[in-house]
Amino acid sequence: MVDCGIAFKHLKPHLYGVKYLLLTHIHSDHINPTALRNIRKSFPHIRVIGNYEVGQHFEIDHIINAGYPIDTADYTFEAFECVHDVVTYGYTWDYNKQSIIYATDTSTLKNAPIRKYDYLFLESNYDPIKLELARGKRQQFGYDAYAGGLRHLSRNDCEAFYYMNRRSAKSPLIELHKSSRFY
Ligand SMILES: [Zn+2]
Ligand SMILES: [Zn+2]
Repeated sequence: MVDCGIAFKHLKPHLYGVKYLLLTHIHSDHINPTALRNIRKSFPHIRVIGNYEVGQHFEIDHIINAGYPIDTADYTFEAFECVHDVVTYGYTWDYNKQSIIYATDTSTLKNAPIRKYDYLFLESNYDPIKLELARGKRQQFGYDAYAGGLRHLSRNDCEAFYYMNRRSAKSPLIELHKSSRFY
């Protein structure tokens, strides 16, 4: 499983087959502190892996560093740096000889390992044209939606990475973290 940003009751039915929980970054839409506490209490066999900033804020089992893969009995997890406003990692691993990448909350995939992926879970947050229309309209949104959007991955960058790095036309793209306003 990657991230746990929703209520424990929604996660619980899915946790029985989970062995590892990879955490991407500290934002609360990715780590619900109560959910994480409950996972650790009720599912103590799940190994929780995250970056050093996640490790400063939450109790986890392994701190992973970008470029230094962790070998477990089941998988080799490799982390790479995303670009966001806190320390954020994307992950790759293999399952049944299928190569998987998961990356969200990043303005770029420039640090993602270049290889052929069978499953691509990638942020696809905004349409650049729609986001451009929010530029300079801080008052309308009550916050700088434009600057906020730029900390995420555009649909275009998502698709470009997908087409360059998918194994074949059958390799699924699972779009993550779509903006309700700007996608
Ligand atoms: Zn997020
Ligand atoms: Zn975030």
